[in-house]
Order: sequence, then C-alpha cells, then structure tokens
Amino acid sequence: MPDTSLPGTSLPDTPITPTVDFDRDGVQHGFLNLPHSRDQSAWGSQMIPITVIKNGDGPTAVLTGANHGDEYEGPVALLDLARSLDPADVTGRVIIIPMMNYPAFRAAKRTSPIDGGNLNRAFPGDPQGTITQKIADYFERFLIPMADVVLDIHSGGKTLEFVPFVGGHILDDKTQEKKIVDAMAAFAAPYSMMMLELDAVGMYDISAEQAGKVFVTTELGGGGTVSAETAGIAKRGVSNLLVHSGLVKGEVETSPTQKLEMPDGRCFVISEHSGLFEPCVALGAVVKNGDLIARIYDVERTGTTPVDYHAKIDGVVAGRHFPGLIGVGDFVSMVAVPV
Ligand code: ZN
Repeated sequence: MPDTSLPGTSLPDTPITPTVDFDRDGVQHGFLNLPHSRDQSAWGSQMIPITVIKNGDGPTAVLTGANHGDEYEGPVALLDLARSLDPADVTGRVIIIPMMNYPAFRAAKRTSPIDGGNLNRAFPGDPQGTITQKIADYFERFLIPMADVVLDIHSGGKTLEFVPFVGGHILDDKTQEKKIVDAMAAFAAPYSMMMLELDAVGMYDISAEQAGKVFVTTELGGGGTVSAETAGIAKRGVSNLLVHSGLVKGEVETSPTQKLEMPDGRCFVISEHSGLFEPCVALGAVVKNGDLIARIYDVERTGTTPVDYHAKIDGVVAGRHFPGLIGVGDFVSMVAVPV
C-alpha cells in the first residue's frame, strides 16, 4: 500500500483508501474507497473501480476514462483492457481507472451529481474538499506521481461531437512535448490535434504535464454514446500506447492520421442565439474562412430568417454542438487547421 501521508509536509492524508496494492505483481481488480456519508448509506463509500496489472520493474501507465461521466469510449476500451490484459505480457505496471469520476458516470452526467463538480476543472483538488475535489487530489498526489505515461480518454459527451482525435498540448519543455507527440502518433487516431484550451484552469492535463509526464488525451466522437468505430479507435490506441511505452511487447498498429492544430480563438464559434441548431457541413469537412457552417432557427415563430454562423478560419470542422436545440453561449463548432 502506498504511504498516504506526504513526508515533510503538513498536507492532510487523503480520505481515499485503495483496496489494491500498487506494488504487488499480478492482476488486482479493486476499488478506490472514498467515504461518502449520505441519506442512502450513512457510513457508506463511493467505490471507484480500479485495476492494477503489474509484472516486475518497468514504466507505469495510468489510464483513465469518464473523467467526464457521459463520455463512453474510455470506459469501453479500459473495461475491456482490464479484463483481458495478461500480466505475463506486461513489463512494468498498468493502472486502469475506467470511470474516473465514478459518481458522474453512474448518473450519465458530465459532472458529479453529488457536488456538481467537473473533475477536469477540479485539479489539484483538495483532500478536505468536496467528493470531486477529493478524487482530483488523489490523482494529483498519488497516481500522477506513480506514472510515466498518462492517458485520459475523453469524447464529446452529451453536448458535443468531435472527429476522433488524439490530443496533446504545446509545452515549454520541448523534450517533454516531443515525447507526447510521439505517443500521440503511436495512438494512431484518424486525427492528431495540438490543442488550445479555452478554459485550462483545474485540468488533469495541466497537473500531469506540470509533473513532467507524457500526457496524452483524446476526443473521440460524442453525443453521449459510443460507436463501434470510436470504440475500436480507443482500443487500438490504448494497445498501441502500451506497446510504444515499452509496457507490452509487439508492434504499433499504424493507421493514417491527419495532423491538426488550434492556432488561436478563431477556431471556436460560440452561439449568440438560442433556437434550433442546423449543422450545415459534416464533421471532417474542409472549409474556408467565411463558409456557412451552421444555422440557428427562431423556434417561437415561423417565417423568420435563421441566423447563419460562419467559419472564422480555413480548416477542418473538427467539433460541433450535438443536441438539436442550442442556447446563447453554447459551442457551435471548432475549426482546426491542418498542419
Ligand atoms: Zn471530457
């Protein structure tokens, strides 16, 4: 068991107790036990499933899905990996948390039904904070430090849809950035994106990158479901990443990828109207600056002219609003630039 206190600091212990031993060889399926006193269970816990597959010395990968609870490629690929990866095929340690924000996942929500917490805005977390802050703190202080490579599988959730891409960030440390770009290439998604974050404060990404880790993320599909195609991309990507990282022997299964980047805020189109959303180009379409990409219809009367939304940059339509209705301030689309 890891020491849950931080030597030389006055930081409080985590309330989370793992039922797995991170140092033991073999396969262990267990839980991160997070006490949660509530009406239904006065002395109960949130039991976050975790698998540790270890074989001797080597690198450590920390693999997560459902950081946002309504994104399903990660849980599908990682539940499949957790049941099937043979420790005899591993050199090092694979730590799998398929449903990172477990309360949100069980509620099929992006955010926690307990405290409203968006786990990917809750880092570095707080061991004395809310449920979501306690989960973030455990990753920040215990799981990230164990890792060499960190993969966090996202997709669009109920309100967004993306072309399937693997993502990373431009970093000051170019050696670290190069390792991330190489890991992204191994993941072999149809698109590879150097990402610009609109709202980076509190992201798991930032914590892992600042800790010097090879951090890879994804946006694979969306709409609050999973497709055979995107589940397949996730499974292949996870497998490739383990091979690339030296954790599993074998060959990376290559596949063509379109490299994209998000150079600045012109990539994003945000709605200033509410109404009925009509996407006017398909995801993956190549557009020019000024091209019509979406329309929003007034739903309170007939006979009105819809509001047109246009691309603000030449590129590829890489993301879009998903539900049929849209509100002021909602994301309309993201146009990324081929590299
Ligand atoms: Zn997400």
